[in-house]
Amino acid sequence: GQTIGILGGGQLGRMVILEGRKLGYRFVTLDPAADCPGGQVSDRHVSAPYDDQEAAASLAEAADMILYEFENIDPEIVKKLEQQTLVPQGSRLLELTRHRLMEKQALTRAGIPVAPYVAVETEADLRQALAELGLPAVLKTATGGYDGKGQWMLKTDQDVAALPAELFQQGKTLVLEQFIPFQKECSVVVARSVHGEVKAFPPSVNLHRHHILHMSVAPAPLAEGVAERAVRLAEQVADSLGVVGLVAVEMFVLASGELLVNELAPRPHNSGHYTFDACLTSQFEQFVRAVVGLPLGPTTLTSPAVMVNILGEHGEAFNQAYGLLPGQVKVHWYGKEIAKKGRKMGHVTVVDDLESAIAWIDASGIWPPLTEQEKKVIYDR
Ligand code: ATP
Ligand code: MG
Ligand code: MG
Repeated sequence: GQTIGILGGGQLGRMVILEGRKLGYRFVTLDPAADCPGGQVSDRHVSAPYDDQEAAASLAEAADMILYEFENIDPEIVKKLEQQTLVPQGSRLLELTRHRLMEKQALTRAGIPVAPYVAVETEADLRQALAELGLPAVLKTATGGYDGKGQWMLKTDQDVAALPAELFQQGKTLVLEQFIPFQKECSVVVARSVHGEVKAFPPSVNLHRHHILHMSVAPAPLAEGVAERAVRLAEQVADSLGVVGLVAVEMFVLASGELLVNELAPRPHNSGHYTFDACLTSQFEQFVRAVVGLPLGPTTLTSPAVMVNILGEHGEAFNQAYGLLPGQVKVHWYGKEIAKKGRKMGHVTVVDDLESAIAWIDASGIWPPLTEQEKKVIYDR
């Protein structure tokens, strides 16, 4: 059997390994952390920094191909690996998706609608960009951000004045985006294989709390025709960027039904975790199929599902509820030792109709119940 190397040993890598093993593949992981979620379930784990030449070379030696499971990695590392072994996703996709500005430019070139944006490097640029786009707006670092980190919501001139002074002293590229008063957010995970076969998963509607994904709902409660358009848009992204592997396409859904692409991820995505329990093929299995060149699996939804993240602060209530979890609540635990606030420790997928699933989630006591506003965001079409 073949051995697949993975750069990154987080929960995404872990779930890729759990699914890839079933197909007969062996896995080697590289991650600085010795006891990471992926390393716990791989056949061999190399604990070293990503820029450790020797470690990377030993990964290339041990594996028939190498994947990356996160995008906040230096593309130079992947470029070097590409010269030593097969990297099906390629360094180009990484270069685009790790950099908000390059990503938006690539999307715009491909005719994919995004929120109006302006590149910002200096304070003068920011003033100019604000004059162009107006307030409210969102300022984001081009690289390194996730879960809303490296992101500033600008509603008033005071918010602009309160931006950290260092922001412009590090020569970092930023992007100012117009604030989009979206009705809801949805996402589509699409697989594109090394042979160019393309298959999308059903869209999910996603609810964030404090900029971190809280809940994903499938099938997505969307107005007539929107889900179909979201799928087509996501497939267009996968084709126009020549994706190999997976691309998760996050979108804003406007009240008019118009869709704008927010950002991309070149890997399995948190909003696609529901596929593990509620689709004929999971996004993790599909990722492996796409990169090794197997036919893609059917993405049919087998049950309505609601996925909810378990963060560090939910751990205690979750442990208390654990013995009483009904069978339709599918638990995925990532094996992380330290339960920090905001850290993703695991998730559950409730395989039940939307109303029953939400009723159980709200009654469980594990998470603060949905507010009326949040319910509106989920249910309103
Ligand atoms: P992720 O954890 O998904 O990688 P991130 O830190 O990369 O998040 P984004 O996805 O760009 O950041 O933004 C996080 C959330 O902030 C979005 O899902 C959305 O709820 C809100 N947001 C971002 N940009 C805008 C915008 N232009 N207008 C309105 N809301 C926005
Ligand atoms: Mg992101
Ligand atoms: Mg996002």
